[in-house]
Amino acid sequence: MRTERWSALGHPGATIWFTGLPASGKSTIAAAVEERLVLSGRSAYRLDGDQMRLGLNRDLGFDAASRTENVRRTAEVARILAEAGTVALVSVVSPYSAGRAEARALHEREGLAFMEVWLCTPLAECERRDPKGLYARARRGEITGMTGIDDPYETPAAADLVLTPDLSVEASAERVLRLIDSPDSR
Ligand code: ADP
Repeated sequence: MRTERWSALGHPGATIWFTGLPASGKSTIAAAVEERLVLSGRSAYRLDGDQMRLGLNRDLGFDAASRTENVRRTAEVARILAEAGTVALVSVVSPYSAGRAEARALHEREGLAFMEVWLCTPLAECERRDPKGLYARARRGEITGMTGIDDPYETPAAADLVLTPDLSVEASAERVLRLIDSPDSR
């Protein structure tokens, strides 16, 4: 049925998993990719960590077990979207390697394309951007468990694509689009 569903849509589903520190650019680049895909006639949908925490994951906090569960649920939703023929664009800190590996395994078991994109933006640059003021609050001690400050971020060892902050949003989006169109993602 998957083949028929995807051929009815004209394209396969896939999951693009954006990981990186808060403010590294995950949501910004995922949104740029989503726009480009949708305007080109491809079904794409963003699963943003903050949005997920308002609904499906609203019962979860920021301790290690909750972060793991947050990633597990997000991966399950992405898998369903990919199966349905959509390009799921996941932007979630996903700080632990094990959780990201499980998300990949979940897709690969089902023969679904999964690509990890690491927003390799140094902490100093993330702190300089700080669009939500979270780093400033963490530095003042107003919040604890902030990834990069007093909670770990395990850097990906084998991301499918690494994006650095010298790239513009447009150039980064372009690289992700090329990854999606690469033969391995079909
Ligand atoms: P995250 O989703 O990783 O928390 P956001 O995308 O919400 O990060 O925030 C990243 C911030 O950095 C945005 O305000 C964005 O405009 C800014 N920014 C500046 N340069 C870049 C770049 N080259 N790539 C991505 N974001 C950038």
